[in-house]
Amino acid sequence: MNAKQQEFQELARQRVVHCMSGEHYDIYAGRGRCPTTQTLGKWGNRYTHRPSRVPGVVVVSTVEEAVAFHKREIWERLHDGTLSKELLASLDGKVWGCWCHRPPCHAYTLAAAAAWAARTL
Ligand SMILES: [Zn+2]
Repeated sequence: MNAKQQEFQELARQRVVHCMSGEHYDIYAGRGRCPTTQTLGKWGNRYTHRPSRVPGVVVVSTVEEAVAFHKREIWERLHDGTLSKELLASLDGKVWGCWCHRPPCHAYTLAAAAAWAARTL
């Protein structure tokens, strides 16, 4: 990992909280409805290591694999244009709320990607 990647990871560490901790967050990163606002989240990881009947969810072996596949998908979507760098950049500095207490969690990928996008636009 180079210095820039480490910087993005460090920024990401400061920007993810548990969605039920009572701490403020700007964007719900989980699947389904946000437990605070009840609005449907747009940033859930479609990969999971837990059994799921949610349509479109892909069950994989481990949480590490789920996070890695999500990360690969973010980069693929940036390349094929279904996710814009501008949109990602607009999320820089936001606090993400997810169900995980700590990494591995795809919200850290999103926070790091947003930091990267904002600094390289
Ligand atoms: Zn998470």
